[in-house]
Amino acid sequence: MIRPRYGCIGVLRSPDHRANPSPVINNVKGDEERKQHLMSSTPDSFADLGLSETLLKTLTEIGYETPSPIQAQCIPALLEGHDLIGMAQTGTGKTAAFALPLMETIDVKLMKPQALILTPTRELAIQVAEALQSYAKNLPGFHVLPIYGGQSYTIQLKQLSRGAHVIVGTPGRVMDHLERKTLNLDNLKTLVLDEADEMLRMGFIDDVEWILERTPAQHQTALFSATMPEQIRRVAQKYLVDPKEIKIKSATATVAAIRQVYWQVSGMHKLDALTRILEVEEDFDAAIIFVRTKTATVELADKLNARGYAAAALNGDLNQQMRERVIEQLKSGALDIVIATDVAARGIDVPRVSHVVNYDIPYDTEAYVHRIGRTGRAGRTGNAILFVAPREIRMLRTIERATRSPIAPLTLPSRADVTNKRVTDFKGKVAEVLNAEGLDFFANIVSQIAEEQNVGAEEVAAALAMMAQEGKPLQIVGEDPRPAPAPRPGSFDRDDRKPRSNERFDRGDKPSFESRGERPRREERPARSAPSGDMVRYRIDVGRDHGVQVKDIVGAIANEAGIESRFIGRIGLYDESSTVELPAGMPAEAANALKRTRVRGLPINLRPDEGRPEGASTGERSFKKKSFDR
Ligand code: AMP
Repeated sequence: MIRPRYGCIGVLRSPDHRANPSPVINNVKGDEERKQHLMSSTPDSFADLGLSETLLKTLTEIGYETPSPIQAQCIPALLEGHDLIGMAQTGTGKTAAFALPLMETIDVKLMKPQALILTPTRELAIQVAEALQSYAKNLPGFHVLPIYGGQSYTIQLKQLSRGAHVIVGTPGRVMDHLERKTLNLDNLKTLVLDEADEMLRMGFIDDVEWILERTPAQHQTALFSATMPEQIRRVAQKYLVDPKEIKIKSATATVAAIRQVYWQVSGMHKLDALTRILEVEEDFDAAIIFVRTKTATVELADKLNARGYAAAALNGDLNQQMRERVIEQLKSGALDIVIATDVAARGIDVPRVSHVVNYDIPYDTEAYVHRIGRTGRAGRTGNAILFVAPREIRMLRTIERATRSPIAPLTLPSRADVTNKRVTDFKGKVAEVLNAEGLDFFANIVSQIAEEQNVGAEEVAAALAMMAQEGKPLQIVGEDPRPAPAPRPGSFDRDDRKPRSNERFDRGDKPSFESRGERPRREERPARSAPSGDMVRYRIDVGRDHGVQVKDIVGAIANEAGIESRFIGRIGLYDESSTVELPAGMPAEAANALKRTRVRGLPINLRPDEGRPEGASTGERSFKKKSFDR
């Protein structure tokens, strides 16, 4: 299928292009300097970091080209055995930053937990476990086990008794297994607290401390947190020994003359969204699309070629000569799209690049600024489009802060938009031909056909248009996806974290108490709504006097019983106890899990509430569910 190629203006680089600097002005550096800086602050190779041959081989196989900044700094420090505080959020590559070094310490022959990773949610526990499993592809016998609330104890006990080298778990469930002595940490070498600020926000910090108190004295501890609230700092001071503190600087930069927009990934494959967007973008000429792995550059280039775009991959596997060839082709218009990794695209200066697409979000603001600086060159206006998964919203906000410019949400073009654009282009082409020489000859043929077929010239024109567009339909069929709910500034929804590859959670529009079985894809799930149906009010043995807040209760119930927060009804906070409304018909397993659940270290002892009707008590505070929606 051939899609219409976008026209190109073969602008050659002017000899004095440096006199026309990119509108992306970093406060200190020009392009050359920036290149040097990037090279020095971010080693080009995982091999420089001290990882074993086995892991290096795996990283090559899975297509990781260069370490992200947080990896470049954390991996050597952790390999040296330091405790570490890493200030990093999702999207920076922090998982590999702690996972790879801890894997180097594992003795596969010893089937005992040697590393424990605590995460705030079960979704994150699964994601981290999956990441470790993928890095262990060349480590036969390596076993990682996610354990989290809401999963059946029977299964977990069986898995624990079979043994695992790494446990990834939510604090409540890990505590439970430690208490029951079904989890033994005597052989622990590494403890990781992932997203510590989230654990604090969800009310798990006491549980985390409880666990920290019960780990063997000799082990390495790494704490990762996007922010560093006082309480987290206090935990770090108490439990970490002389930690190295690693923070990825958010270089501030001003970005002018570049239109910046983002699309929140939902309801459609990124590839389909990309082609839709590219098709309707007004001043499209050429694009550089950034992805994270070498493998992804090749895959995306193949897919775009199959859709008729002139696209090629640019990655570190290409030698210098091949790279230069790709860039020359982009300059000359032989290629319209180059799919690149950060390293391969360093310093590219092609004035006709009208668009930069961050198909995968960059690791940090520095990379973002560098990427989008590939457009808007030689005094032209550029466009930067960023794809943001719901869990990466924080990174989006960080980028906005660092660049001091808001990034506007982009509404995906509808089918009608695409059709209109195609029709306009088609009309434009016809109009061009109407002015061409030699039309008389064809006009004569059209008259003959009309006469022979006994139809009007309009119908003949329609038939010819259809022929001309064969294989290049002007209309696109299918449903338009529902737009994603707009994210709130500075926040992200816990429910948005979902397992990367396989969707394992049951999250239909019915209340879900279990974590087994298939669940519909996120885009098919209904939007959040107020709880409906029968609700039962329960009482729990924690209240205001224990320092408990609504968010603590929601966090504990959501995690331990696997009940999404939108199905948790009103919460009443009393001094010594609280009430919470939950959907009727809770399975015994979820109810049992809740009986054992702790909030701020105290067992909640959930039971049906036989007390006064809500509102009768003085001092009761009722919160509409909205008040704890995140
Ligand atoms: P994280 O911030 O740990 O959630 O990682 C975000 C994404 O980046 C995951 O899909 C990782 O597989 C990917 N990733 C992490 N490190 C690298 C790397 N050095 N090269 C390419 N992709 C990476």
